[in-house]
Amino acid sequence: MEMTMQGYIEEAEKDLLHAYNRYQIVLDRGDGVYLYDTDGKKYLDFCAGIAVFALGYGNREYNDALKSQIDKIIHTSNYYYNVPAVQAARKLKAASGMDRVFFTNSGAEAVEGALKAARKYAYLKDGCTDHEIIAMNHSFHGRTFGALSVTGNPKYREPFEPMIGHVKFGELNDFESVEALVTDKTCAVILETVQGEGGLHPASGEFLRRVRKLCREKDILMILDEIQCGMGRTGYLYAWQRYDVKPDLMTTAKALGCGVPVGAFLMTEHVARHSLAAGDHGTTYGGNPLVCAAVEKVLDLFEKGHIIDNVREVGPYLEKRLDELKDRYGFILERRGLGLMQGLVFDRPVREIIDRALERGLILINAGTQIIRFVPPLVITKENVDEMISILDTCLKDEAPAGRQD
Ligand SMILES: *Cc1c(COP(=O)(O)O)cnc(C)c1O
Repeated sequence: MEMTMQGYIEEAEKDLLHAYNRYQIVLDRGDGVYLYDTDGKKYLDFCAGIAVFALGYGNREYNDALKSQIDKIIHTSNYYYNVPAVQAARKLKAASGMDRVFFTNSGAEAVEGALKAARKYAYLKDGCTDHEIIAMNHSFHGRTFGALSVTGNPKYREPFEPMIGHVKFGELNDFESVEALVTDKTCAVILETVQGEGGLHPASGEFLRRVRKLCREKDILMILDEIQCGMGRTGYLYAWQRYDVKPDLMTTAKALGCGVPVGAFLMTEHVARHSLAAGDHGTTYGGNPLVCAAVEKVLDLFEKGHIIDNVREVGPYLEKRLDELKDRYGFILERRGLGLMQGLVFDRPVREIIDRALERGLILINAGTQIIRFVPPLVITKENVDEMISILDTCLKDEAPAGRQD
């Protein structure tokens, strides 16, 4: 059934639950850092499927690895071992410095698993079931109940109350606000090393180190959510590797499989020995041969393609070009972020600017209503950055000056 793009959109709005306010395009195929809609229009992609498609579209080796795994076996269940899971886990351990891996189907499920591991750890210590978790305001950890319960945005939580309970919220980069929440019931502190959805706020090295020290002293587990900022995006495979802190538990997803649904939570050997045991947690699909073949190949290609070196080279250039835009337009208040995870903060909603960029062949996304987020494929070049800046600049010229919006 061939249809016009508008036809597909009308069909979609009849059949799919209207859970998203989607942009009015239907994406059909990709090539490198470009995407094409069903009408054949080309777009430069600075979204990468929300920080997922790090390698760019149509990477031959990645595609071939998936195709050959499909011909071998796609799924086995976790009743049995499978080779890609063994190989992916070994590589992920080596690259992250963590000791044990549990594969999930998504980021939210990785967060669920990490929270369960933390509660079980505390339960094994004192046999009590009233442990508390400290999370951060403006955080985002996913849409399932556990992950939502530690998401520091009341708008996402309120209609679905009650949450899991015993969760308290501190302020990122305000150590005292976190310390003040600690009781002898606290079992975990969870935070994103760089907040994504909540507005591209990096945790400071000092904050991370002080939280790390506090957690160590009180035997509280430190959970770092690296689902968006991990997998090379900030110039380190995991953003915490920039600082001399190591979490007890960490979550990863998004770019981990570069497009297949896979996430993971990882832990130290100490946590592994004193938390989830056989029968405590499970998943039907999690870590199946298809997604693990993808993870293994992604880690392989990150190394072979020097992906992180590219982030370290192009990231600062993106920062510089965004800073120039900020200096030119009074309605841009701030640029912040790390590496190829950047945001421009506006004094107004950005939806219309993003719509205009789309018309001009540039895919951008927001983080909250007033921030444009830049999370391109990690293989972008400085030329791609120039192309993006030039299109965005054209879109910004149509904006009313600062303080004169309607
Ligand atoms: C996207 C995201 C999640 C949720 O991942 P899903 O795969 O959408 O469930 C959790 N934490 C962070 C930091 C994220 O960016």
